[in-house]
Amino acid sequence: MQTISITPATNKKQKPADDQLVFGRQFTDHMFIMDYEEGRGWYDPRIVPYQTLEMDPAAMIFHYGQTVFEGLKAYRTTQDTIQLFRPDENIKRLNRSNERMCIPAVDETLALEAIQTLVNLDRDWVPRKEGTSLYIRPFVIATEPYLGVSASKTYTFMVILSPVGAYYEAGINPVKIAVENEYIRAVKGGTGEAKTAGNYAGSMIAQENVAKKGYAQVLWLDGHEKKYIEEVGSMNVFFKIAGKVVTPHLSGSILPGVTRKSVIQLLQDWGVDVEERPVLLSEILGAHKNGDLEEAFGSGTAAVISPIGELFYDEASYVINQHQTGPLSKRVYETLTGIQYGSIEDPHQWIVDV
Ligand code: PMP
Repeated sequence: MQTISITPATNKKQKPADDQLVFGRQFTDHMFIMDYEEGRGWYDPRIVPYQTLEMDPAAMIFHYGQTVFEGLKAYRTTQDTIQLFRPDENIKRLNRSNERMCIPAVDETLALEAIQTLVNLDRDWVPRKEGTSLYIRPFVIATEPYLGVSASKTYTFMVILSPVGAYYEAGINPVKIAVENEYIRAVKGGTGEAKTAGNYAGSMIAQENVAKKGYAQVLWLDGHEKKYIEEVGSMNVFFKIAGKVVTPHLSGSILPGVTRKSVIQLLQDWGVDVEERPVLLSEILGAHKNGDLEEAFGSGTAAVISPIGELFYDEASYVINQHQTGPLSKRVYETLTGIQYGSIEDPHQWIVDV
């Protein structure tokens, strides 16, 4: 395997205080970078001081959006060690996204080593306050200066790090969600399964519209019939109906979340019935009417679990569990965060030390 060279930063930045962290605004002292050229493969993996890039304005990323990204976190445990949660899953998903976007695969062992080495070098940046973490953003961009619509012959893979505050400052908190009936996020055969920039650029208008009306996120429906539930904002979604848990199956237009996969595993460990299948919006609203809709929540790296306290659809509001966090949502949240921060034993070898 290639060795990662390290050029340490000589000027260290002032670190923000743990209670003043804003998501995605501050970056650590170093970054990882590696280049690709057709015929040569990936080369020159290196850690360098965090810096701006110089790029050709014709670089294909700027025109056709050939790019992928990932998002995961490093957690500081009470024993002051630093650990990652299922980084292998993020790296595998990065390569699946790469494949969809015609970007060459990265070596998965090297990518993990890059993350571990970078986080270790900037380990003082992993905050200490409860619920805080260091967000890790690996990404690939197409760099060839060419305006023809075809796959780039050159790429850059980078990893940057950003300390983040606790998602729930005042305890886990149910949010209001509006069902999106105009815009769609993704269709089967499109790019929804890949973590690629265009999916997010295309979803912002819906998010802005509902935010103006006081909703936290949109509930995305399928692009063919607008009948099936897909995701909530940039999270996967779960419903507890009459004791059973249902979540949309990975139909081709849904991002396969690492948190989603972990939630399903935990529920199965606990003997809860989990069904991955098409989920009709009408089924959820019907269950609400019958009093069977017990809990609903989104799952993702940022919030871990985000309970849904209210759904808005077709001029009507559907309140779930009296805007309270349900017991199953709470148990999943506490177990996952316990594993991530090392206070609960890791039953599935999900944790990777830095
Ligand atoms: N869906 C979308 C569209 C997302 O962007 C994310 C965040 N990566 C998720 C679901 C949740 O995925 P994960 O649990 O891996 O963070």
